[in-house]
Amino acid sequence: MAPWTRRQVLTQMGLAAAAVHTLDPHELCCTMAAHAQTADKDLFELKKIGDGVYGAIAHPRYKTNCNGAVILTDDGVVVVDTHSKPSASKALYTQIQEISKKPVVKVINTHFHWDHWQGNESYAAMNPKVEIITTEQTKKNLTTPDAGVGGVPFIEKQIAGMPAEIDKLKADIQKESDPAKKRNLESSLQQAESFLQELKSMKPALPTRTVTTTVSMKEGGREIQLHVLGRAHTNGDLFVYLPKEKVVATGDALIDWMPFMNDGYPEDWVNTLTALDKLDFTSIVPGHGEVRPKSHLAFFRSYFVDLIAAVKKASADKATLAEMQTKIGDELASKYEAGMSKYPSGRYRDRIGQNVEMIYKKVVQKA
Ligand SMILES: [Zn+2]
Ligand SMILES: [Zn+2]
Repeated sequence: MAPWTRRQVLTQMGLAAAAVHTLDPHELCCTMAAHAQTADKDLFELKKIGDGVYGAIAHPRYKTNCNGAVILTDDGVVVVDTHSKPSASKALYTQIQEISKKPVVKVINTHFHWDHWQGNESYAAMNPKVEIITTEQTKKNLTTPDAGVGGVPFIEKQIAGMPAEIDKLKADIQKESDPAKKRNLESSLQQAESFLQELKSMKPALPTRTVTTTVSMKEGGREIQLHVLGRAHTNGDLFVYLPKEKVVATGDALIDWMPFMNDGYPEDWVNTLTALDKLDFTSIVPGHGEVRPKSHLAFFRSYFVDLIAAVKKASADKATLAEMQTKIGDELASKYEAGMSKYPSGRYRDRIGQNVEMIYKKVVQKA
């Protein structure tokens, strides 16, 4: 097994620490005493975007689930992305059955990150003939050690990291005196323990079909285009585009949170978003957050442009990384903090420091 570097441990722990404090408004309002029982029910809200096209918008959980997209065809259901664990994709499948009794015939993975593909296996178990489609590069990343925060080797890293997360949650529960916060921590603990069990019994289902360039599929009366537009959030991002319905599912290359750049290519990302902008669509199913109008692309893209310019300038002015993180975080806040802080996770102040560091390392130091 590949060694687990300290940096990866810290990345993982950082994500976990942020998630511990994530309150789930849905649970707090309605089902205070029933966290454990409802942990795997109603994980998603199916939002109709067009005729037979839905965004599966993920509710906040201790271990983040990505959004899915659900596309009904005459031949069966096509699902984009499969979340962080098999029980989550199973839960979505139960919700899908309320709108279609047809089998899931195709699964599309937008990229290799853990929260977008670890539920593949439940679709493979339900339909052995299911096609799992992604880019050639993402398929490669899924089996490459140290590719980043996803893939088969990363499952072992998550298993190695979970006991420390669980111990921390137990310690936090002991210390917490506020009853609502304590209940939330207890729910997180329950979710963390079942996540560990799921990780240990995972039988990862890898892609069965890959694309290297843009492909148009005719699927039971519907056209589904797969677009390979360049590097962005990872080196293997795939965009799913429905030209008739004018909908695009973007994975994490375009989200309604602050971007996660650690496995990304910030300068390429701008160009890839420019290429995406050329497609004629009106709705975005982002990897995280709500369904957004096309105008969100310009906002998200301008964040990269402004951030890259600010880091380059600060670096030319000989600022230290710590100085840049503070100064640029404050400078860009008026334009981006509100729009990038709409949910409990992935907020502006959670990620601006890390984003500045990534731009500094990937754009300035490399240059
Ligand atoms: Zn994600
Ligand atoms: Zn991702």
